[in-house]
Amino acid sequence: MSSVVETGNISVPAGVKLPIYMDNHATTPLDPRVLDAMMPYMTTVFGNAASRNHSFGWEAEKAVETAREQIAKLIGATAKEIIFTSGATESNNLAIKGIGEMYRERGNHIITQVTEHKAVLDTCKRMEKAGFRVTYLPVKADGLIDLEDLKRAIDDKTILVSIMYANNEIGVLQPVAEIGKICREKGVIFHTDAVQALGKVPVDVNAMNIDALSLSGHKIYGPKGVGALYVRRRNPRVQISEQINGGGHERGMRSGTLNVPGIVGFGAACALAAREMKSEGPRLASLRDRLLNGLRARVPDLVVNGTLERRLPGNVNVSFPRVDGEALLIGLTDVAASSGAACTSAQPSHVLKALGHSTELALASLPAPDPGRSATIGAASGRITRVGVWRVPRTLKVHSAFGRVRLDLTRAIFEHPEVDIELKLGTGGAKIRVPRNAVVELEGLHTTWKDSQYKPPRGSTGTGPRIRITGAVGLGKVRIWHARW
Ligand code: PLP
Repeated sequence: MSSVVETGNISVPAGVKLPIYMDNHATTPLDPRVLDAMMPYMTTVFGNAASRNHSFGWEAEKAVETAREQIAKLIGATAKEIIFTSGATESNNLAIKGIGEMYRERGNHIITQVTEHKAVLDTCKRMEKAGFRVTYLPVKADGLIDLEDLKRAIDDKTILVSIMYANNEIGVLQPVAEIGKICREKGVIFHTDAVQALGKVPVDVNAMNIDALSLSGHKIYGPKGVGALYVRRRNPRVQISEQINGGGHERGMRSGTLNVPGIVGFGAACALAAREMKSEGPRLASLRDRLLNGLRARVPDLVVNGTLERRLPGNVNVSFPRVDGEALLIGLTDVAASSGAACTSAQPSHVLKALGHSTELALASLPAPDPGRSATIGAASGRITRVGVWRVPRTLKVHSAFGRVRLDLTRAIFEHPEVDIELKLGTGGAKIRVPRNAVVELEGLHTTWKDSQYKPPRGSTGTGPRIRITGAVGLGKVRIWHARW
């Protein structure tokens, strides 16, 4: 038997158990389909997209332009309005500093709000040092700004409003379309940090009157180190002053050799999100609700942070009253989560403090953001392993209907160290390989199973990993993960 176990896309030495990844707001794994799209640009197609005199450059440029279109399409923009950057931190800096400098003569007032990512808040602090006046709008207990506060804050010196689309901790969705409308009526530029919203909820820069919008590749199963800033070109045309000087790339707004493989990956991730968002959203929302219901049933005074009405489908963020925050995270050995934004994990979250939480309650919080593309019902109780078709040394055949079947392989005798199980779900199906001492639960789908090779117990090896399988008849979905219960 191999000494390496495949867990999702990650190989770990046998015996090492990875925690369940529940930190998809910090970053997402690279989708293997995205990696496939990137590979040629990391190997054979290595040209510089700015090389105008030969085919190596042309090919790289063509790939960049395709990605530009894929990204633009996902937000209702045109390709020419996409400026590539190294990530959303840079995009936010470029938007706020670039617009601030460009429109300095018109006014020096910027409006943002208190639960923004530090990439916006710290940039605004810097703008204050440079002589700008910044208004930090408060949020209500539900995590959303009050639109009346915004209207009141806008004055004749206001040049920019920067309010995020979706919060990276509590997942609440600010009323972006309404904010855009107010800004357009008042003639103020509207920038939004849409990093967490991209590919999760619909974004339309025209319908929402958004003038500038920050994006990042690694939050949507794309690569790290690549992002983009959308800058409106028409009705009205928005201008930004460049923050990095050099070869005049990206229409002079951001110099530097383009990260072609990263950009190609970002484009591919957007194309996948465009295709899958509609089905993925409800799926994640139902997982989120199931997790939340389970937590509420066990912890009656659980506090849910932020409104559930306007929220990313995969996000839940809860606080446990009277629980020590550090003890909570130390106790959660099976779960990889953070108690705040990835960059500020040791501090009480400024987002939760802004909701009115005490430091203790803010620390005793568990964001379980976005169980993720590969997660399944019950992902909270185990880690994901692979689904696929393998060579069949001995096969246990299972035919699906409704019901529940538990296969205790510890009570069967198989000479082979691994057992393959074939699962039929409506029109679909899957084969899995499990260790012979596993307990397999087939949940919610099945009554009959046939196996001529299933032997009566002759001693049990006992303590192997337990594996649960679930799926939906008709949809043909199968998910497998290790679990301890
Ligand atoms: N804005 C938000 C809302 C984020 O969640 C993040 C990432 O944590 C960023 C900006 C920064 O993005 P990047 O990691 O691409 O610099």
